[in-house]
Amino acid sequence: MRLKPLIHLSGKSKFNIGVRDTLETQARFQLPPATLISAYFVMTPAEGIARFGFRRWYERELIEGHVYLITCVLSLTLFAACLEQIDWRGPLQQFLFTLCALVLGAALCIGSLRRYGFLLARAECFGAQSSCGKCGIYGILKVIGAGAGDDRSVLDAADNPWVRVQCKKCGHEWRIDNQ
Ligand SMILES: [Zn+2]
Repeated sequence: MRLKPLIHLSGKSKFNIGVRDTLETQARFQLPPATLISAYFVMTPAEGIARFGFRRWYERELIEGHVYLITCVLSLTLFAACLEQIDWRGPLQQFLFTLCALVLGAALCIGSLRRYGFLLARAECFGAQSSCGKCGIYGILKVIGAGAGDDRSVLDAADNPWVRVQCKKCGHEWRIDNQ
């Protein structure tokens, strides 16, 4: 068995997470420095696809979406329980505590439902545009550019208005519009 030279590892691919200092990669899409928060909680679709590959990113979006759905159901349960327990004529302290839990449950329920809808709609939108127009393969692509999305708060997800991708199989390039 003949060992391949190590140079193959850095490769000639236009987008390569490991190679950052060649002119070619500088001109292309680059991942921001990975911090715990940016890497796992507020990642744009372009960063997610570049880091995990399209299929795994898509899967993660669906899982995250359903975690929000579960949060929504649990907070709805909290809301309903508090609504039933609230005693308008009881001690003030107990009343205030139940009222706080009621408001928290309602806010959490609405917030997580919105986030669930957002994540699923976005995953669906990206999924529908992820087949290569030339060779027809689904989800085998790499990110070569992305529109900047500046909102990076936890509730309003980090986003890209568009992502430019390239098929890993045939090299065909196209743009995924995030509507
Ligand atoms: Zn292709």
